[in-house]
Amino acid sequence: MTLVNENYLKLQGSYLFSEIAKRVNAFASAHPDKKVIRLGIGDVTLPLPQACIDAMHKAVDEMAEQSTFRGYGPEQGYDFLIEKIIANDYAPKGIDIGIDEVFISDGSKSDTGNIGDIFGADNIVAVTDPVYPVYVDTNIMGGRSGDLLPGGKWSKIVYIPCTAENNFVPSIPTEKVDIIYLCFPNNPTGTTITRDELKKWVDYARENKVVILYDAAYEAYISEPDVARSIYEIAGAKEVAIEFRSFSKNAGFTGTRCAFAVVPKALCAYTKGGEKVQVNPLWNRRHSTKFNGTPYIIQRGAEAAYSDMGKAQIAGMIAYYMENAKIIREGVREMGISVFGGVNAPYIWLKTPSGLSSWAFFDKLLSEANVVGTPGVGFGPSGEGYFRLTAFGSRENTAEAVSRLKTLKF
Ligand code: PLP
Repeated sequence: MTLVNENYLKLQGSYLFSEIAKRVNAFASAHPDKKVIRLGIGDVTLPLPQACIDAMHKAVDEMAEQSTFRGYGPEQGYDFLIEKIIANDYAPKGIDIGIDEVFISDGSKSDTGNIGDIFGADNIVAVTDPVYPVYVDTNIMGGRSGDLLPGGKWSKIVYIPCTAENNFVPSIPTEKVDIIYLCFPNNPTGTTITRDELKKWVDYARENKVVILYDAAYEAYISEPDVARSIYEIAGAKEVAIEFRSFSKNAGFTGTRCAFAVVPKALCAYTKGGEKVQVNPLWNRRHSTKFNGTPYIIQRGAEAAYSDMGKAQIAGMIAYYMENAKIIREGVREMGISVFGGVNAPYIWLKTPSGLSSWAFFDKLLSEANVVGTPGVGFGPSGEGYFRLTAFGSRENTAEAVSRLKTLKF
């Protein structure tokens, strides 16, 4: 008799986006004449930078010649890409990262989801709330969640609220935790914390033997100087933090797939007997056993993101999205609605007016302005009463959506 992994039976259906799709489809079929604008999507819309396209075309041609053809590559990624990452993202900040501390992958979703494989099932996991759902769901799969409680929390997961009340700055947990997921700039709130705040987390992690899983997928959107672009800007972070970075939201690789994790050799975890164990070789073993490398063509495309032309084109894309963010932020603020994020991230997080629930606000926006966003409660209990709009739409649709929102009465 085959037994299933019963942790999977605990997983809730992907309620959020299927429920959004259901409501939008029902509205669209009842009102075929209305143009629905989607500002709920967390996916980029601009095409890939030409520098990346050119590099991938060239790599395709290499694959067509016997003398330049490549089969399996190193599971950890090609040195040509890792060297560019180190030279551009870390060395200029004085951060010393070794070639064998960077692992190229097919995405930060995979990396943040898979990293739990190398940590024991008895660890207590903390997440900020609201949160990117992958962190919670993969810990349910890994047997670290406990049971679902009324109100939507899991009994063994520690939730750290990030709301307007604490200015979206998470407090250090008072209970014992072993692993903490931090994501800055944050999805879904679009907010971030200062370097000084981040230092408190690193110091806490060092004092308490806690590992920080630091998701910096939106690093490219940081505009303020007091926000760290890498957790390794903080002294001692290499002893406690794994950093996840992605080419999805800077170079538009959401459909192309390339990311990397930095697992420093200084980072250790422990056996139940208290013996110190280096984490880097465990991740190397996991990665090289279960993953066979990001395609050569894709890695050449990612490498081109670091060329002068690639950097300039990416800067243009980020500027485009962040201008959208500004249009949304200012428009929503002019409506008298409290609005957060959108300065260091492509997400705008707003407090629903008149005490509306996240879903009531969703329905009002859809039916009266024909605009789709994402109900904050879908990202965790502390997201109730909030709503996420994204800056990834076209300029025209973004401006049109904002002018429609302004016609709403609350
Ligand atoms: N991490 C966060 C916080 C995200 O919001 C996303 C995508 O929306 C990802 C990771 C996924 O990144 P990737 O496309 O590299 O898998």
